[in-house]
Amino acid sequence: MAALSTEPRPSGHLPILRERGQHEVFCGLTGIVWLHRKIQDAFFLIVGSRTCAHLMQSAAGVMIFAEPRFATAIIEERDLAGLADANEELDRVVRRLLARRPDIKLLFLVGSCPSEVIKLDLRRAAERLSAAVAPTRVLNYSGSGIETTFTQGEDACLSALVPEMAEASPNAAPSLLVVGTLPDIVEDQLRRTFEAIDIPVAFLPARRAGELPGIGSSTSFLLAQPFLGETGRLLEARGATYLPAPFPFGAEGTTAWLSAAAEAFGKSAALESSIGSARRRAVAALERYRERLQGRRIFFFPDSQLEVPLARFLSRELGMVPVEVGTPYLHQKYLQRELELLPDSVTLSEGQDVERQLDRCRSAQPDIVVCGLGLANPLEVEGMTTKWSIELVFTPVHGFEQAADLAELFVRPLVRRERLEV
Ligand code: SF4
Repeated sequence: MAALSTEPRPSGHLPILRERGQHEVFCGLTGIVWLHRKIQDAFFLIVGSRTCAHLMQSAAGVMIFAEPRFATAIIEERDLAGLADANEELDRVVRRLLARRPDIKLLFLVGSCPSEVIKLDLRRAAERLSAAVAPTRVLNYSGSGIETTFTQGEDACLSALVPEMAEASPNAAPSLLVVGTLPDIVEDQLRRTFEAIDIPVAFLPARRAGELPGIGSSTSFLLAQPFLGETGRLLEARGATYLPAPFPFGAEGTTAWLSAAAEAFGKSAALESSIGSARRRAVAALERYRERLQGRRIFFFPDSQLEVPLARFLSRELGMVPVEVGTPYLHQKYLQRELELLPDSVTLSEGQDVERQLDRCRSAQPDIVVCGLGLANPLEVEGMTTKWSIELVFTPVHGFEQAADLAELFVRPLVRRERLEV
């Protein structure tokens, strides 16, 4: 039986339904799909099983056309006595890889859940290998399905990078750090916006391993993704200041997110005149989608951890009605500004007991369900319209220019369903 509890929401009037039971989510290895595209001289070596290799192959099959930047070292079943061999084998694989690929400057050993892998101490392996293969850095993190859900793999990866960031001098000029993997096109747009109002900005992760920015008490940071709770905590422990803001989804979210930085840097007036036309374009573009989405009821199963900001965007800017907003984890500190903007009528749930949640979904009969791949097909068979949450992570959706594309992602399944019904 799953444990259920409710407690007052931070803003005081919406309870959180906490569930612990069977849950349906991808593991954190999935993050490699977007992380390897972002850090261009990094390589992700999954230390795992054939299952892990298959997952990665199907999640990112496109890579067969290019020189891959991830792979799986398959650790077969072995007893404790065989661990020394496994470490030697891992060292051999890494040396062979780096001899063949001198372009790799940063190597991640990514842990997984098979018991043979859990027995290996990948942190020590990374330390040992870093010394042996310098100047290539070797770091480790876990993408195991036991420890991480789908987007937590990125949190674990970025957390591994934080100790690598140089100490910025306390006398350094104040600077902004944007935290979270963004497609290059979105990063470039945001960089131009900050530079136009004279805010020095860097991004984590950087595009190249050697471009990792420094950090210290002169750094303020904005989270670009809501699933980076541990990374945020580590950055604050390094002296950086978190700037509370909603996430940059939609015209309103993007304005509030940019404004949080502008205010901290004394650039509010400059921001206002700099973003006016982009914001007006986004608002006008969203208006077209509002006609299609207004009044439609939406149900979120916990998966990407984008659920709360998306529900806020869809309800406030497109008039949708979130029925239940489920998220695997609720980082209350980093979601505070979002939670304040959710409608009072919503059921906010954290964790999952999938059977109970399916019952609630069936009884709510929403117009659209946002869920992982594993639930989408069965729900479609039951006549529900679904949206794969994984698409929301793979598609550029942040900022003014992408606001309409984000809305379109929710219109498409409704149009498809209407066509099927004709
Ligand atoms: S890490 Fe675990 S959950 Fe993920 S693919 Fe490998 S075995 Fe499966």
